[in-house]
Amino acid sequence: MQAETTEAFDASSALCYSANTLNRCGEKRKDTEWVKSLKAASETRFLIQANDSFIFNIEQEIDPVQHTAEVLGTLGIKDATTIFLGLDEEDSDRPYFGVRYSTDAETLEEELEKRGPFAAYGLRGIAMKRAASSKVFGMMAQAAAVGRWHLSHKMCSQCGKPTELAEAGYRRDCPSCSAQHFPRTDPAVIMLITHGDKCLMGRPYHLAENVYTTLAGFVEPGETLEDAVRREVFEEAGVKVGKVTYIASQPWPFPSNIMAGFHGEALTTDLNIDYEEMEDCQWFTKEETLRMLQGEAESGLICPPDISIAHHLIKIFTEGK
Ligand SMILES: [Zn+2]
Repeated sequence: MQAETTEAFDASSALCYSANTLNRCGEKRKDTEWVKSLKAASETRFLIQANDSFIFNIEQEIDPVQHTAEVLGTLGIKDATTIFLGLDEEDSDRPYFGVRYSTDAETLEEELEKRGPFAAYGLRGIAMKRAASSKVFGMMAQAAAVGRWHLSHKMCSQCGKPTELAEAGYRRDCPSCSAQHFPRTDPAVIMLITHGDKCLMGRPYHLAENVYTTLAGFVEPGETLEDAVRREVFEEAGVKVGKVTYIASQPWPFPSNIMAGFHGEALTTDLNIDYEEMEDCQWFTKEETLRMLQGEAESGLICPPDISIAHHLIKIFTEGK
């Protein structure tokens, strides 16, 4: 998915959830009065989440996920977490906020219908349907990841007492012990391992039928990204990896990961699959991989859709770059 409004300086900016053109105003957002005035401004727009789903105006053709403050009232939202997302410099510095509230998931649909032309959709579904512009996906990823963090950090991890939202949503403070808590992002590595004109792809158990994809795993404390690539590949497939090259990264807000994408060169090719983690793992030729990407493989096997960084890591290999 190509960023529509930003020049692509790197491979990452072309990925879904990555094209975020907002100026987050890291220094200015500490000014509570400034943030308050932006929130009250008529040009401000809100991305609203009920639990993990974004509210859409189903009658609005352009930007159905961006709402005015009036909609917050129409929806009768109380006890929401409000986060300053940033200023859109490509749209006269229009301010954006993320608003997240918790509600009964069972009655949400019915409740929204009563209040207007609204529906709630999960971020993955929105991406699969391309139901928003790539620029808005970046904002949604930001709102979803920070919003989820607030939900799970209401209590201080130092003393167990309640924490309070601070710095426009980018910190939580504990009034009891003065600890400051910051939104976390968990790094994960995702890698296509190659050997000559072959690449290694596998099937974790949760994957849809017939899909083969890159291997992936979380980075452990005290480990470089490159060593995480080598360790994960050896653990999952028994293949030793030498040179590792960084390709691109993608925010993956499920709930708050950053996927660092690599190509790695295999030093060995024999497989020793960890069947606790993987249903299967195989070497595929470049030709077969290309057909899988295009959905034309005789085997019926396919690669993940282009919202994922895995698709792009595989595509770059088939293009021989
Ligand atoms: Zn505390």
